[in-house]
Amino acid sequence: MANDLNGQPAKFRPPKVERGSAPRRVGNGALPMTILNAMPSPIILVDGRRRVVYVNPEAEELFDGAGGLDLSLTIRHPAVLSAVDLALAGKAPGSVEIALPTRVSRNFTLDVVPTDPPADDSGPGEYWALIVLHDVTRSRRAEQARADFVANVSHELRSPLAALIGFIETINGPARNDPEARSRFLNIMQREADRMSRLINDLLSLSKVEINEHILPTKRVEINTVVRQVVELLTVKARDRNMNLTLRMDDLNAMVQGDPDELNQVFQNLVDNAIKYGREGTDISIAIERIDRVPDTNRFGVAISIEDRGDGIPSEQLPRLTERFYRVDKARSRDMGGTGLGLAIVKHIVNRHRGKLSIRSREKTGSTFTVILPVVAP
Ligand code: ADP
Repeated sequence: MANDLNGQPAKFRPPKVERGSAPRRVGNGALPMTILNAMPSPIILVDGRRRVVYVNPEAEELFDGAGGLDLSLTIRHPAVLSAVDLALAGKAPGSVEIALPTRVSRNFTLDVVPTDPPADDSGPGEYWALIVLHDVTRSRRAEQARADFVANVSHELRSPLAALIGFIETINGPARNDPEARSRFLNIMQREADRMSRLINDLLSLSKVEINEHILPTKRVEINTVVRQVVELLTVKARDRNMNLTLRMDDLNAMVQGDPDELNQVFQNLVDNAIKYGREGTDISIAIERIDRVPDTNRFGVAISIEDRGDGIPSEQLPRLTERFYRVDKARSRDMGGTGLGLAIVKHIVNRHRGKLSIRSREKTGSTFTVILPVVAP
C-alpha cells in the first residue's frame, strides 16, 4: 500500500474530530495506526465521549461518514452500545453479535475492549474503546441454508415418495397381471421421480447461492453471450410449444462482474418460465438494453427483459412470486414439471450480482421479467 507524506497508508483518511486530527498512536504506542490500517478485520476506535475517532479502511466500507459522530449514529444496536459503555468504564464486556442491514444483510461478532487514550487526550474518561468486527455471515448463512434444506427436503419429498410407494404396492398387488395399468403407473412414477430429482437439484442450487449471496462474484462476463447461449439452448423446447424466441440487443456488448454459470441459470429459468406459462403458438421477446442508471445506485447498467404472451399474474401475487415454493397455480406448475424454486433462485443470484429484478404483468395479456445488472468497463 502506498504511503502519504506523514507515513500513513494512502487509503487512511483521518476522520474529522473536534479535538484535531486522529491520534497517531493510542495507549503509549500500543496501537500504532499503521497496524490498525493493515488489519483485515473492520476496526473502530471510540473516545471517552463515545465518539468515533478512527475507523480502519475495512470499517470505512461498512460505516462511511462515521468519523466524529457518536457511535449510536453508526451502530444502533443497544447491546453494542452497552458493551462500549462498559469498556469505557474499564470493564471487559466480551463479544456481541449483530446483523448489519447492508444491501445483502451481513452478520458480525464484535469484540469490545477498553484501551488507554493517547497521552495528549484531554477528554473525559480514563478509557477509550476498541471495537473489532469479525464477519460471520458465511457461517450463519450456511447454518440457515442447512436448516432450510433439511426442512424443505423432508416436507416436499414426503408426498411424491408416498405416491411412489403406493404405485409400487399396486404394481406388485392388484395390477400384477394388468400390463396396461402397469405401464401407465410406471410412466407416472418416472415423472414423479424426475420431479423429485429436479427438486433436490434446485434446493442445492438455492442453498449454494444463499450461502454466497454477500460475496460479489469476481469474473467478467459478456451478458450478450450468456443470453444468446440460453436462447440457443431453449429454442427447441419453445418449438415444441410452437413458440418463437426473438432476441434484440444493442451493438455494445455489456460486461458485468459476475458468475457465468449463475447468470446462465437466471436467464434459463426466466426463459423457461416464459415457455411454460406463455400461450402456445405465441412469441417470446427477449431484449438487452443499456441503461443510464441501476435504480438506487449511480452506476451504468444493462437491462435484460423477457416478455411473454400468456395468462399473466394477478398483481396482488407479484410481491410473493420470488418466495420459495410460491406458485400462482400449483397444479399447473406441477403439470409443467415446476418445483416452485426457479424465481427464488433467480432473486438470490440477482441480489448477489447487486442487480434488480422487476416483474410487470397484465392478466390475460402476459408478463415481463426484467433483470438489471451494473456494468463494468469493457
Ligand atoms: P415453477 O417451478 O413453479 O415454475 P418458479 O419459481 O419459476 O416456479 O415460478 C413461481 C410461480 O410464478 C410459477 O408457479 C407461476 O405460477 C408463476 N410464474 C413464473 N413465471 C411466470 C410467467 N412468465 N407467467 C406467468 N406466471 C409465471
